[in-house]
Amino acid sequence: MPPPVNCSSGDVEAMRIVLLGPPGSGKGTQARKLMAERNIPQVSTGDMLRAAIAADSRFGQQAKEIMEAGQLVSDDIILGIISERLAEADAQDGFILDGFPRTVQQALDLSDLLDQLGQPLDAAVLLDVDFDILIRRLTGRRTCSLNGKLLNIYFSPPEELDACINAGGELLRREDDNEETIRNRLDVYRERTEPLINYYKKRGKLKTVDAGGTIDEVFERLSANL
Ligand code: AMP
Repeated sequence: MPPPVNCSSGDVEAMRIVLLGPPGSGKGTQARKLMAERNIPQVSTGDMLRAAIAADSRFGQQAKEIMEAGQLVSDDIILGIISERLAEADAQDGFILDGFPRTVQQALDLSDLLDQLGQPLDAAVLLDVDFDILIRRLTGRRTCSLNGKLLNIYFSPPEELDACINAGGELLRREDDNEETIRNRLDVYRERTEPLINYYKKRGKLKTVDAGGTIDEVFERLSANL
């Protein structure tokens, strides 16, 4: 019999991974699928910052303009958010980090934090995808206002896009998914985040997954690598 995949069973080792990759590589989408399958939380710094903005908290007020410009929020703020999140009960049996770390300093901070918690990282998984696919994923990305479902005007089946609109919903575009901000985010990725590929390679933690193709195809490759 295959081993159970549900961590709440207590029979499976904790899985602690970082999902690495440029904006649009599918980190959020794949993290949500992994979370559903393995019952470990997706920890997305981008989602936490957007929630802080929606709540108009102090962090949110500090982060809003920076995010809208496609720049990085300071390492200090991010470390504060992550330290609190990883101390929560549901993160004790593993987590999927999505969008963090994004700088070498954040990777060093994460390493210190996990040492203190006695929770070593298993792997950093790079979602590797062609530039032209990235651009279409980012410029086409929408969320259905009714149920938060992630859609893409270039890749989602037309019936799924129509279903949202016919039910009275709107296809919302993220504030930072406009062309100029996308360009900035990709530049920032190249300059600040790409060095993490070597950082994790040197430490023997890097796995690379071809992230072109459908969501299910990528998920199959990702699962096979973990
Ligand atoms: P994401 O949803 O991961 O694409 O993040 C959206 C935006 O939030 C980024 O463009 C940054 O402005 C900010 N952000 C998210 N995660 C981080 C991080 N780890 N470090 C700095 N800024 C971040």
